[in-house]
Amino acid sequence: MHPFTLSAISPFNHLAITLTLVIFIGLCIGSFLNVVIHRLPKMLERDWRRQCAELRGESVQEDTPYNLVVPRSACPNCGHRITALENIPIISWLFLRGRCRQCKTPISIRYPFVELMGGVLAGMALWHFGVTWQALAACILLWTLLALAFIDFDTQLLPDNLTLPLLWLGLIANLFGLFVPLADAVIGAVAGYLVLWTVYWAFKLLCGKEGMGYGDFKLLAALGAWLGWQALLPIILFSSLAGVLIGIMLAGIRGHDHNIPMAFGPLLAAAGAITLFWGQPVLAWLHLPGAF
Ligand SMILES: [Zn+2]
Repeated sequence: MHPFTLSAISPFNHLAITLTLVIFIGLCIGSFLNVVIHRLPKMLERDWRRQCAELRGESVQEDTPYNLVVPRSACPNCGHRITALENIPIISWLFLRGRCRQCKTPISIRYPFVELMGGVLAGMALWHFGVTWQALAACILLWTLLALAFIDFDTQLLPDNLTLPLLWLGLIANLFGLFVPLADAVIGAVAGYLVLWTVYWAFKLLCGKEGMGYGDFKLLAALGAWLGWQALLPIILFSSLAGVLIGIMLAGIRGHDHNIPMAFGPLLAAAGAITLFWGQPVLAWLHLPGAF
């Protein structure tokens, strides 16, 4: 048993009850992640616009507040306010048959999917790590990766205010040796950034194009901080391989248009989650035993 167990403060000893509770909390967090995915890029854009206006010396008009809390969620078509009863993860979507209650505009299946993923990932973390601090930390990592993957998919952005705290949290988790020794985490963070930074500049100098963005370097640095430098190789291998396969598939579907940008962040995030759960055999095979 890992020294940092939560069992002393957990009121439940029965795994099934704990698992149900954790999955339910995960579903609710997933519901909140939908808000983050939808609003954070818009909040950043508002912020940048305001800063640009300030730099140009224009008078900055105060906008109506827009953050993760206000305004209340509403139907984008008719403005119908989502009530608490219509906001129960997955169940409300199923009950409303994926449509707005007032105007019957379809609600994307992505919303219940993100909620489901929030619950499933939390359940997997508990199943894998038991009732431990590791499981709690893994949940925070996985939920953040989930939000980052969708934000990058939508906007080609990996916001600093998610990637950088994720990096610090990984280092802090490993300050207590939750996943890997601190030295492996620090080297992982530095190497993760430098590897993609090098690839970026090599690609730019050779091909004159930008293959990825600075957000990708920061995300890999964060994964290195959480999982150690040993995990970088499987993460890069898996995400690159998936990227090539998806690229070929898209080329087959859309025709050969190499100018359509493809977000690398979702692949990095997925590779990080897979390595967290199933990286150990791969690392053993590569003779790079990680400690998580
Ligand atoms: Zn509506």
